[in-house]
Formats: sequence, structure tokens, C-alpha cells
Amino acid sequence: MAPDLTKQVLTSTAETVLARRYYLKDAEGNPTETWETLCRRVAGAVAAVDREPEQVGLLRDSFFNLIYHMDFLPNSPCLMNAGTDLGQLSACFVLPIEDSMDGIFSAIRNGALVHKTGGGTGYSFSRLRSKNASVRSTQGVASGPLSFAAVFDAATETIKQGGKRRGANMGVLRVDHPDIMDFIAAKEDQSRFNNFNFSVAITDAFMQAVEEGDDYELIEPSTREVTAVLSARAVFEKIVDLAWHNGEPGVLFIDAANRANMTPQLGEFEATNPCGEQWLLPYESCNLGSINLANFVRGGEVDYTRLKHVTRIATHFLDNVIDCNRFPIPEIEEMTLKTRKIGLGIMGMHDMLIQLGIPYAGEPGRQLAATVMKFIRNTAEERSMELAADKGPFPAYDPAVNDYPARRNAALTSIQPTGTVSMIADCASGCEPYYSIVMVKHVMDGDRLILVNKYFEQIARAEGFYSEELMSRVADSGTVIGHPEIPEKWQEVFRTAQDISPEDHIRMQGILQQSGVDSSISKTINLPKSATREDVKLSYITGYRLGCKGLTVYRDGSRDSQVLNTKDSA
Ligand code: ADP
Repeated sequence: MAPDLTKQVLTSTAETVLARRYYLKDAEGNPTETWETLCRRVAGAVAAVDREPEQVGLLRDSFFNLIYHMDFLPNSPCLMNAGTDLGQLSACFVLPIEDSMDGIFSAIRNGALVHKTGGGTGYSFSRLRSKNASVRSTQGVASGPLSFAAVFDAATETIKQGGKRRGANMGVLRVDHPDIMDFIAAKEDQSRFNNFNFSVAITDAFMQAVEEGDDYELIEPSTREVTAVLSARAVFEKIVDLAWHNGEPGVLFIDAANRANMTPQLGEFEATNPCGEQWLLPYESCNLGSINLANFVRGGEVDYTRLKHVTRIATHFLDNVIDCNRFPIPEIEEMTLKTRKIGLGIMGMHDMLIQLGIPYAGEPGRQLAATVMKFIRNTAEERSMELAADKGPFPAYDPAVNDYPARRNAALTSIQPTGTVSMIADCASGCEPYYSIVMVKHVMDGDRLILVNKYFEQIARAEGFYSEELMSRVADSGTVIGHPEIPEKWQEVFRTAQDISPEDHIRMQGILQQSGVDSSISKTINLPKSATREDVKLSYITGYRLGCKGLTVYRDGSRDSQVLNTKDSA
């Protein structure tokens, strides 16, 4: 397949984002690249690790076509760094924190090296002894996970990642750690821990205790002694209360994650990457990329033939990224090469549903999304098994303990936020619905510039209900619902994140998780401002029952600004 240079038109937003953060620059800071040359750089570097020259040429062209036409985009570090001296291509890392001064400050150092290259880090603080536990060497007392988390936060603040991405961290604490109550409340004050998302690692035993109204034990990690017994319901209520208050902490269902651990012989999952979609073992890293489902509707149907073709090439691409990558520290290189995890995801899922005229909120939309995700996962697995036959399975694969067929990658799929890459591709992010359909931008002299979703404008014009006046009214009300000129069908199809019920959000996450996601899903469960604590509680319980591996809720207006997972911070 030769490079297909049918001109790719970029939106002005995409051009701005690319010029500011992705195109390589000369000494004066002027971009020296275009979208086309960037894609050639990335495709060339990632194809080059396949050895036979003939194959490299073919691969380079097919990688190029995929990225240039935005059928698939790799995560930001790959777009920024492939083919450069830095050469670090992964978005996610999980680093262990051992319970010693050396362990803690090594983790801070390792995290700094990861942030410098554009990666995000997840840490579990669960191994650290609790506040006031004794320290034998100094005969003093420990300051506890939270005081050390503040040092991680300050270090991240200081390293601004060369101006391209500010650092991002996930901080996890097990629900049975003695300092759990302080951790839950740590971000009540929105000025603290701004470089972290905090999540509580919740166990099945805890959820059962909540259900049955039982107490549960807090365990000191350094001695394994029981330090206190708390009411599971009281702790759960506190998590719910603070998540209602401003969206933090999130919850991670750690036992569900570990049940899906493909290499238990290497260790347990303790934490995810910053946005929660990728569970990783200590020192593992993972490179991500997303298929843009907006590009796969033809003649009113999903074009599965082309989706298969693109998924196969994308899987090969992400597998090659592992060999092309320059890892920040040797421990990460060693672990990553053992399991060769990749995170193939999607974006533009709402675009696909809109083009098919199917609402996001409802059984038909969910069924279709699940079918597509399963198709992608099965295709990726098939391709990974072929790559294993060709190049060998991931080295940690052991048929004596792993009861699945040999493949090249221990994990294949996850659904990422795609905060920036979806802006480049001009589609809805990840598996999220659009956040708005008509937006007003205030420009000079009090003028209002009205920005209308491209599909909505096209349909409104074709069906004759487009008017500036209507668009202005939709913008002011923030929703397409309830405007009599808009046919009922389109009101349903163009429901946005805030118009979709929390239950519909969770059901979508649940069905995607069950049908085709190995790792996890970054998704926000949007709740209206009027939602109660009971609504938040119900969301968590439903998500848990549906097999989600983590949940993030956000009640409209409950935070001044969202720290992570918003387009301008990615
Ligand atoms: P992108 O669209 O830029 O490729 P995503 O929004 O999909 O990235 O985020 C994917 C992952 O990349 C996140 O879960 C996180 O691990 C990492 N990440 C995102 N933003 C940042 C950031 N500002 N700094 C470091 N890592 C980040």
C-alpha cells in the first residue's frame, strides 16, 4: 500500500495544538514540521524495528496512512517523540513505592525521569507504614503516606515536562490502610495535591461489608497488625460524600482488576496510570493508541472490513512501539519487555453513533458499542497471536501457568481519555458523549461566535431546521432537548454528557468493560448539579456490580476546574 496523500484537512484547533506542542521546532521555536512530515517521522521510526527492508517499506506506508488520515492516533508521547533523540513513546507508568526512605525517594526520582519525557505515573502508597507508626532506626514516628504524597506533588510541580505536558499522577491507597480516612478527605481542599488524581483501592471484602452493614479491619502494612475496626458503611459514606463534593476520590475495584491479571506469576496490580484506564504491575509501562470510530461508518453501517484492516495495523504498530521505545530507567525497560502490554482504545464513539442515528443513552447504542469493541478486541488478539508466531510470545508467557493461547502482548485493550488526540482528530473523546453541541465563544466587542457540532449543523441544514436564532437558543440552554423545532429523534441522538442519565453513563462503561476491554476505561459519570449523595452511592454500587474496574463521578459545577482529563491540561 503506497502512501495515500489525499489531502487531510485539519481544523484550526488541530493546527494550533499541533504547532504548539507536537511539531518539532527549530532553535527559535518555530515549527519545522507539518502534519504530513510528522506522520512520516512517526511511521518511519516505528516501522524501522521490523527487520526485513521490504517489510519495513510496506509497513511504513501503512502506518503513515493510518495516522495521516486519523483512522488511528497513538498517544501524545509517541507523536511528539518518535524518531527524536528523546524517543520515549509511552503515556503510562506505574512505579512501586517501598516502605523506606530510599524506596520513597527513589520513586520520586524515577517519577521525575518519567515526567520529563511526557509520561504519566501511577503510585500506590499502600505499602507505606501509617502516620505515627514507629521507625526503628530513628526511634521516631513515620509521617505517613499523605505527607510523602505532598513531596511527590511538589516534585511534579517543579518538572514541567519541557512545556509540553504538565505532569500527571495517580495516587492510590487501599481502603484497609490505617490512614484511609485522611486520604479520602485529602482533596476536599481543592488547592492541595493538584498534580494528582486520588483513588481508593476498594476490595470485594469491603464491598461485601458495605452491603451487609459489617465492620472491617484496618491493617498496618509494616507489621500486618490490625490497628482499628471501622464500619464499612461509614467509610463508604465518606468516600461518597467527598466524591459528591468535588469528584475526588475516585474508586478503583482492585480485586476485579487482579482477577484479570494475565501474569499473576509476576505480581499484583496495585495502581493504574493517572486517568485510570491502564492497570499495570510495578515498573510496567504501556503505550496507547486509539482507533477513531468516526471514520468507520459507510452507507449507514459500520464498515467492519475496514475496521478489521485498521485494527490489525494498529496492533502491529503498538507492538512495534515497544521495541522502538527508549525507556527512562532500566527497571521499566525490563518489566515492559517481559509483558509487552499495549493499550488499544477508541475515540469518536459518539460520532459513530450519531452518524448511524442511534442515541448513546439506550440499549441499541450500548449493544452496538459493545459489538464494535468486542470486534476490535478479537481482531487485536488474533493479530497479537500471529505476531507471537512470527516474533515470539511476550517473554513472561508461561503455558504452565497461563491458560490462554500464546500471544505477543499480555494486555491489548483499554479506553483512554484521548484528551488531546481527539482534538487533533476532531471527534468526541474516548467513549464519552459530546460535552456540548452548540457553544458560544465571546469575541471582541461583545460579539458572540456560535460554534455548532459538525454533524448537528449538517443534519439541521439538510432537514431545514437550522437557524441562527435556534442555534443561539440551544447554546443558551446548553441542550438540544426541549426545542420544538428539533425533531424528537435528533434530540435523543444529540443528548450530551449532561443530558445523559448517570445510569446510562455507567451502563455504557459496564458493557464496554465486559465486552472488549482487557484493562480499564477512563470515563466520567456525569451527574447533574442537583444529584444527591444517594445518587453517587448508587452509581458506585451499579458500576461495581457491572464489573467496572474503577469509576469517576463528576457532579456538574462541583469543581472550579477539572485538573486532569480535560482538554487543556492533557
Ligand atoms: P493524549 O490524548 O494526550 O494522547 P490521553 O488524554 O488519552 O492522552 O491520556 C492518556 C494517558 O496519558 C493518561 O491516562 C495518562 O497516563 C497520560 N497523560 C495524560 N495527560 C498527561 C500529562 N499532562 N502528563 C503526563 N501524562 C499524561
